[in-house]
Amino acid sequence: MFKTVWKKMIGFGLVAMLSATALVGCNSETTTENKTDNKKEQAAETTLDKIKERGKLVVGVKYDLNLFGLKNPETGEVEGFDIDIAKGLAKKILGDENKIELKEVTSKTRIPMLNNGEIDAIIATMTITEERKKEVDFSDVYFMAGQSLLVKKDSNINGIADVNKEGVTVLTAKGSTSAQNIRAKAPKATVLEFENYAEAFTALKAGQGDALTTDNALLFGMAKQDPNFRVVDETFSEEPYGIAVRKGDKELLEVINEYLKEIKANGEYDKIYEKWIGEKPKQ
Ligand code: GLU
Repeated sequence: MFKTVWKKMIGFGLVAMLSATALVGCNSETTTENKTDNKKEQAAETTLDKIKERGKLVVGVKYDLNLFGLKNPETGEVEGFDIDIAKGLAKKILGDENKIELKEVTSKTRIPMLNNGEIDAIIATMTITEERKKEVDFSDVYFMAGQSLLVKKDSNINGIADVNKEGVTVLTAKGSTSAQNIRAKAPKATVLEFENYAEAFTALKAGQGDALTTDNALLFGMAKQDPNFRVVDETFSEEPYGIAVRKGDKELLEVINEYLKEIKANGEYDKIYEKWIGEKPKQ
């Protein structure tokens, strides 16, 4: 009798132990599975998912370029062509143009800031180039500019040939195609590179150079700020602007290109263009 009870108990105990182990086994299996699933989800989370989760698009823009991205010292607001494009993109992705955070970039800092995750995209007068395509992915072209020169009203500089001389100093910003192009096209000139265009323009006004060089659209913005300067009537490069995202952010890039197509088709793009640049040239 005792034996039977004991056997039964052992039997029960064994079954209990086994099922407990089985349960533990099951549990730990499920936990591991869940963990793997979470990991998979995390790995699969795209920048577009993250933007939607946080409910805010973070865009790198210029703060020192009249007409494209300029911080209004009175209101603290950043305004311009690129800003309106950025706000429209926030509306496209999140349904509200105010669901956006603007961060200041310069030509030199914009790619590092994108690639270290500080911003989701760059909308900052950025030319699409083969060299930059190695570091970022670009949207379709959203603005077309060309490099030119900003000079004093009474200057006798009227084109690139006039600055390709010993003793002529040309000012520009670090990390720009403007700096690369001017060195290639006017190798005899002295080129001074500044942290941003505001500093370069201050230096030009202070007489530290004979000309400031960058895209004509940006120079027009400066000439508007100070009528003592004029933009030379010649461009010597093509500067197609693109919105940049991190390499491989194809979901975000698709939405951006869809957005650009939409605003070009529904007249929104022309409105933004006319607001900041003026009447659009007929293509
Ligand atoms: N579009 C040129 C560039 O991407 C000049 C303007 C700028 O520096 O942002 O370099």
